[in-house]
Amino acid sequence: MDQEDTIVALATPLGQSGIGIVRISGTKSFSIAQKIFRSSNGSRVNWSSTFRTHYGWIVTPEEREVVDEVLLTLMRSPRTYTREDIVEINCHGGPLPLRKTLELGLRLGARLAEPGEFTRRAFLNGRIDLTQAESVLEVVQAKTEKALMVALNGLKGRFSEKIFSLKEEIVDLVSSLEAEIEFPDEEIPVPSRTTRKRQLIQILTKLDSLIEMGEAAVLYRDGIKAVIIGRPNVGKSSLLNALLDRERAIVTCIPGTTRDTIEESINMKGFPLCIIDTAGLGAAGDAVNQEGIKRTHSSMDQADIVFLVVDGSLALTEEDELIFQKTRGKNRLILVNKIDLPQRVDRKKVKTLLPNDVIIEISATRGTNLEKLKEVISDLILKEIIPSSPPPLLINVRQKNVIERTKNSLLRALEAVEDEMPEEVVVVDLKEGLESLGEITGETTGEDILDHIFSSFCIGK
Ligand code: GDP
Repeated sequence: MDQEDTIVALATPLGQSGIGIVRISGTKSFSIAQKIFRSSNGSRVNWSSTFRTHYGWIVTPEEREVVDEVLLTLMRSPRTYTREDIVEINCHGGPLPLRKTLELGLRLGARLAEPGEFTRRAFLNGRIDLTQAESVLEVVQAKTEKALMVALNGLKGRFSEKIFSLKEEIVDLVSSLEAEIEFPDEEIPVPSRTTRKRQLIQILTKLDSLIEMGEAAVLYRDGIKAVIIGRPNVGKSSLLNALLDRERAIVTCIPGTTRDTIEESINMKGFPLCIIDTAGLGAAGDAVNQEGIKRTHSSMDQADIVFLVVDGSLALTEEDELIFQKTRGKNRLILVNKIDLPQRVDRKKVKTLLPNDVIIEISATRGTNLEKLKEVISDLILKEIIPSSPPPLLINVRQKNVIERTKNSLLRALEAVEDEMPEEVVVVDLKEGLESLGEITGETTGEDILDHIFSSFCIGK
């Protein structure tokens, strides 16, 4: 991926919309625009201006054939998203004008941008650090207002500030140790071992709190995982549809239709609640069913909540009881479904088998008690699952792993201080910790990791 290239991409999805944006970044972007833009009244465009929008037409360079009516914004380096010259063309939001404008950019020497390449350039050119680049993705993908709010903190650089201040504390420790190593005979005031230990413990506590934030962030980013379980035909897919308020899972009256797991997200009191409809946990049967059951088990293992559905219109079966057993110990809600039909399920037996569970009677197809169910779910989420307030930062898995690695280096340093090891040993561990912290902000991050991070962006971001 050559940084010198001029890149072009659609910054908006290729569909029908009010407007669609073609974005060009790099040294050739202005000259490309010059060749394909004609201002509306024939007036001359001041190409050395910046942050100016011009109204006019995109035309083919040779025949001057009109491609679209556009607004063209010129942004001069370095005060731009990528720090390079950027041209943004607001076209009509239709696939054809957008594709043709994009093709003109390609024909005139730009290449198609890789996913996330605009943001990668912003990072490589020093406009943002890596945590901010990752926050861009969090902002784009935020599923709830809370997640967005926290992601914006990252974009503002709050996370990097924390990392920089931690690095400063470690650098201070390293400098004082190095002074001691280099000038052993000089009268430099040396912190006592207890002071060093205290400083190290303080840093470790801060690292621990970041690790905790990383754990809480998972809930805010990916949401709470709920899984719907029950034997075939009890109404699992109908329940998912009712909760989502639309037809998503295929509902049929043939047992075992939901062969695969289906995942959907709803916003529950500001949290993404990701609901997984499963193939059931019933008798294995054919190979497809067995695979489905295997997946149900794995969904259940990852789930924060289990919705266990029982068919109220039928008597309990051994299969139901088996499912009761398999979901024991989980945060579960028992849903007796189909209460609009004549009831056959032995409620006393259900209560006896599940004495400590909340049981709610619903009709998934009629919508009976669904509001009550949603209230119970949000109560459960607020009381049992999430921390009382959102973490101040969304720390992702990569960042959390790096922090854990830093913590291990610092724990080794602490051990070395406690064991009265030579200062050199402590310094090595501390420097290792510093090096890993640099991976968070991007100072010491390898190309492969950068490739991995930016590949999850969309093209044009
Ligand atoms: P799954 O196999 O557990 O996912 O069950 P489905 O959601 O596919 O439902 C199986 C059948 O039961 C379908 O014909 C649904 O229309 C029906 N069904 C589901 N919920 C209810 C309900 O609350 N009342 C009634 N009368 N039928 C329901």
